[in-house]
Order: sequence, then structure tokens, then C-alpha cells
Amino acid sequence: MPKAPTPKRKPWQEERVSHGRRLHDNSKFYNGRPWRKVSKAYRSENPLCECKECKELERVLPAQVVDHVKGLQYLLDNNLDPYDWKELQSMNKKCHDKKSGRDAHKNKIL
Ligand SMILES: [Zn+2]
Repeated sequence: MPKAPTPKRKPWQEERVSHGRRLHDNSKFYNGRPWRKVSKAYRSENPLCECKECKELERVLPAQVVDHVKGLQYLLDNNLDPYDWKELQSMNKKCHDKKSGRDAHKNKIL
């Protein structure tokens, strides 16, 4: 005897909004013209990866992305300017992916 399919979501729970594995949807910010402009300008002034690991190892890698040192959400939550160069660092993509992975684990997103 076939059974009726069990609902995946409990009716009293809000539907989950998915941003991949991200907790917040940052795509509007990162795809926006102001950020793209700031990111490009910052990278042309700081063309090398400024991450901790590269500094410690005196490794020289080209910067490919601009990272918010404390994280975008932290800045927004604390009314800080996410375009402020003081909050930014140039990073190599590989270094950045590592950092993002670590941050995600810290916040228990993964
Ligand atoms: Zn690095």
C-alpha cells in the first residue's frame, strides 16, 4: 500500500532561505558597483596578498580578491563602513578560500 509522502518542512517552521552555504546573502553587496570600484582601487594600491600566513612565511602571492578583515556581516552589524580601506586586505584567492572556510566553521555554518 503506497503511503502519502511525508512533508519535508514542519508546517510551523519558516521556510529556509538558501544562499548556498552562506548564512547571509552578500551577493547584492559584492556585485554592486561601489564595491567593485573600491575593490579594484584597493587591489591596484595593494597588489600582493596581505594575509597573516603570507606575512609569516614571507610568501609573495598576487592579490586576486579584497577581503573584509573582520567579515562583512560584522561591519554591517556594528554600523561600520564596509568600504573603509582600514577594514580591507588584499588576498590571494587560495588564502581567502582558506580564511572563509575557517570563518564558516567558527560560525558553525558548515
Ligand atoms: Zn596569503
